[in-house]
Amino acid sequence: MRAQSRGVMELAGIILLVVAWLIFGGIIGGWVGSYRGRKFDGHLFGALLGPVGWIIAALLPEDGKRCVECQGVVPVIARRCRHCGELIVKRPASGERER
Ligand SMILES: [Zn+2]
Repeated sequence: MRAQSRGVMELAGIILLVVAWLIFGGIIGGWVGSYRGRKFDGHLFGALLGPVGWIIAALLPEDGKRCVECQGVVPVIARRCRHCGELIVKRPASGERER
């Protein structure tokens, strides 16, 4: 193998590794973030920081309401849980005051 093509192979390997890192980190981060209602933030942190980003995504404040079935966080306006498919019944207005 010529030295030049070996350099190209090395470069391709590095690029592949970086892409794999971004995709893998982003997927895991998004999965972690989705449980706190922050899927996009999770994707971002996971892709950029890897395992550290997953931890950050897990520690982010919740952005939404919690499903009573699976404890997953869903957007406030959601009517159906995106984690388990359970229908989320709107709470009566009086329940909004507690917090
Ligand atoms: Zn659920």
